[in-house]
Amino acid sequence: MKTLVINSGSSSIKYQLFNMEDESVLCSGVVERIGEEEGVLTHKINPDSDNAEKVVVKEYIADHTAGMSLFIDLICGGEKGVCKDKSEIGAVGHRVVHGGEEFHQPILINDAVIKGIEKMVPLAPLHNPANLDGITVARELFADVPHVAVFDTAYHQSIPEHAYMYALPYSLYEEMRVRRYGFHGTSHRFVAKETAALIGKKPEEANIITVHLGNGCSMTATKNGKAVDTSMGLTPLEGLVMGTRSGDLDPALHAFLGRNKGMGLEEVDTLLNKESGLKGMCGMNDMRDIHAAVEKGDKRAEMALAVQTYRNKKYIGSYMAVLGRVDAIVFTAGIGENDAIVRQKSLEGLEPLGVEIDEKANDARASEPMKISTDASRVQVWVVPTNEELAIARDTLAVVGE
Ligand code: AMP
Repeated sequence: MKTLVINSGSSSIKYQLFNMEDESVLCSGVVERIGEEEGVLTHKINPDSDNAEKVVVKEYIADHTAGMSLFIDLICGGEKGVCKDKSEIGAVGHRVVHGGEEFHQPILINDAVIKGIEKMVPLAPLHNPANLDGITVARELFADVPHVAVFDTAYHQSIPEHAYMYALPYSLYEEMRVRRYGFHGTSHRFVAKETAALIGKKPEEANIITVHLGNGCSMTATKNGKAVDTSMGLTPLEGLVMGTRSGDLDPALHAFLGRNKGMGLEEVDTLLNKESGLKGMCGMNDMRDIHAAVEKGDKRAEMALAVQTYRNKKYIGSYMAVLGRVDAIVFTAGIGENDAIVRQKSLEGLEPLGVEIDEKANDARASEPMKISTDASRVQVWVVPTNEELAIARDTLAVVGE
């Protein structure tokens, strides 16, 4: 069955069409700058093959309906279409950021599910409305096929109360469901499952620390196949140091900046989400630029790298304590998959805890999973590429029952 995966943002829509018989990607693309003067559609045909082709369309794209119609026309029919017509697409999977406490797994979308996703808007005011726009339009354009919602938060719903509750007045939880939710769940689940297979364990018997380091960064402890703690919280700001997000800090900072710098809540929120993290510390948020700057002797770039990798190590250590026995630590996403220096620094000094990196293996580059620990290392360390779209396509198929 051909399965379309849609990740709808406020002014963009990313998509991939899978042939689920062999899980190959038939085409993928992104519509950007929806509603702006000039929108762009970048469409790739057979993107993973040697004869990949790219089509770029630049024109005014009024809204999500216009954006989706544009790429569906390219997918179906026409000279370069990978389907003869729309009826070849048997199911549509949607990435939804926040499923709150309501959604613990992927679910077939109906009107009640839409209402449920709407209910979570206060928890994800930017993302859930954009995800809903995508769902609404796709349900109109593909009225006869099942649509499935796959939630970023769902994997973390197994986290126990003592790990998800904040030490706040209980009424905040009762009234507004203020608690840790965690994000990147689809990636953590996918990578943890892949790693369990790689180390020869059943998922329900594996204890794994998944380290997702991309522009957004998060870490999850998985015990016997279920998430038991994760670094992101009520929002994706908590935890690790990210490209432009601070991660953990003193919760009194808002009050300090308000009192002493006259900053308002929104201003501090923007500061912590958009102007902090690696960018705040050294002016760069791309790890490749930071390494180049370190090479040239840039002390602040060196500091930013040290702060990020120290935080990673602190979390890895705390999740080792949470899990007791750790079978594997696995790195994934843009930085995790590509950056040997970040991996090495994040694990430096953990040898007494049974974590021993093989430097040569760590320096190797591969698009396939690779083991980077020595054979003597008690805890295996792996690099496993994440693939959230494929995970969504698999979930969609599982829900649809084919
Ligand atoms: P993601 O959010 O997973 O797409 O990751 C994006 C981030 O990965 C970028 O901001 C870069 O900092 C980082 N990245 C991508 N490629 C590399 C690389 N070859 N080496 C180090 N970092 C990389």
